[in-house]
Amino acid sequence: MKLNPELLLPAARALLVFAFGAALCWLLLKGAAYPVSAPEVLAFAAFLFVAARSPAVLRVLTALVLAAYCLYFPVGLRYGIVSEGQIAAAFATDAREASEFFGTFGALDFASPALLATGLALFYLFARRVRLFQSRKLFALALVLTAAASFETKAFHPLTHAVKLTNRVVAERANLKHMDWTPAWKVLSARPAYKNYVLVVGESERRDYMNAYGYPEDDTPFMSKAPGIVYEGFTAEGDGTIESLTRTLTLPDPKTLQPRYEYNLVDLARAAGFATAWFSNQGYVSRFDTPLTAIGERSERSRWLKFGRDASRNYFDYELLPLAEAELERDDPRPKLIVLHLIGSHEDTCERVSDRLPRVSRVKDPAWKTPGCYLDTIRQTDAVLERLRDLLAKKGEPWSLLYFSDHGLTLVRQRGVMRFLHSPVSRQQRDIPLFLTSSDAKEHRTIRGLRYGSSFLEGFMEWTGVSTRGIPRPRSLFLAPPDAPRAEDEKLRASRPDDPPADIQSH
Ligand SMILES: [Zn+2]
Repeated sequence: MKLNPELLLPAARALLVFAFGAALCWLLLKGAAYPVSAPEVLAFAAFLFVAARSPAVLRVLTALVLAAYCLYFPVGLRYGIVSEGQIAAAFATDAREASEFFGTFGALDFASPALLATGLALFYLFARRVRLFQSRKLFALALVLTAAASFETKAFHPLTHAVKLTNRVVAERANLKHMDWTPAWKVLSARPAYKNYVLVVGESERRDYMNAYGYPEDDTPFMSKAPGIVYEGFTAEGDGTIESLTRTLTLPDPKTLQPRYEYNLVDLARAAGFATAWFSNQGYVSRFDTPLTAIGERSERSRWLKFGRDASRNYFDYELLPLAEAELERDDPRPKLIVLHLIGSHEDTCERVSDRLPRVSRVKDPAWKTPGCYLDTIRQTDAVLERLRDLLAKKGEPWSLLYFSDHGLTLVRQRGVMRFLHSPVSRQQRDIPLFLTSSDAKEHRTIRGLRYGSSFLEGFMEWTGVSTRGIPRPRSLFLAPPDAPRAEDEKLRASRPDDPPADIQSH
């Protein structure tokens, strides 16, 4: 077969232009930080090639899409595909945080979007001069096919993903705005016995898996021996984080137990003259986190680790400690309240286990790996509490540390693998730890009794020495007579399957 040199030259030129386009597409998709595949790059390049001669509307649209890819390129190379936390941060970031974020960028990072855009402009000029199709119908067909292939190979996924996340964040932020209330506390007096108060809110820890409550593994060496009080009988107000904590960190309606945000813990501490700080290793906005974010944001200082510059990274709870330390060191004559919201034993449990803290799991059976991690996370939460105690003691001012968990989990066999889950809900799911230690505590003791989460805020008042018009003489979480059992809750508990603590380590 004889090649026609008159056809060969334009074909070679078209191929060269396409290759240039493909190289640019590879860069763009790499910057969007989606695992890049060859079909994706080729489909995207083919679409851009054809679209160069498309009607103006489509070209403008394509240019906008490409501009988004170019601008995200330096961010994506560092932080991966856009995440909900990043978008939430972009909405809420102040000037200081923004300059902190871009401060880590080099000259090439700033120049890269412009360089890419220049490359794309050149590609466009070349591609416009290549006439691939004589017939308009063929051209339209090619346009549709390459666009479909681009969608199919997920070349547009980073963009659709970002749009979806943005919609979600906008909706959640609107919710957050609705959660604005006027504090209703009328503080009568505030006589805190200590200078520094730390409240640690744990996650998914069931007390019958803790050595401090008799579990035969050494997973809470600190809590088991530290001078202070281990309270056996604290009962969560729900089976999940939000349900429980909104009724624990506010003074719920005594009849309906619905949370009353105008009576929340942070506003109480502020009204009583405390310097307030809230540091969280949980999410910032999502339907799971929003009410707690709204409470935490009432603090004078607040920080969400999973928010902002590296939102997709997995943070360990001990990374909250430097924040607590800085807050302790901050010069302030007022008493301080520092709330730490841990990720604790939250699913995916094994992801929470750090190599930098002690572990206890000896589990060999792969089917029991997750329960082993559950014990490890309990051990590591205990280590975080111990380090907090060290920080407080180092500061040399009177201090008190209070810890509880939001709810427990239930051990379930799922497709042959043992996992701790929120449901099916067992009788033990609401059995949570409650532990107090302080600079003047002398001996370690355990107190047994029933205490509902809804009594927490009153106990918090007693702990911090605050009295209000509604509760002039708050009762202690630990020393007051036990709460009267609520018939509804007793019935609910009895109706649930028993899930006694399992011997995890024998597997
Ligand atoms: Zn939870």
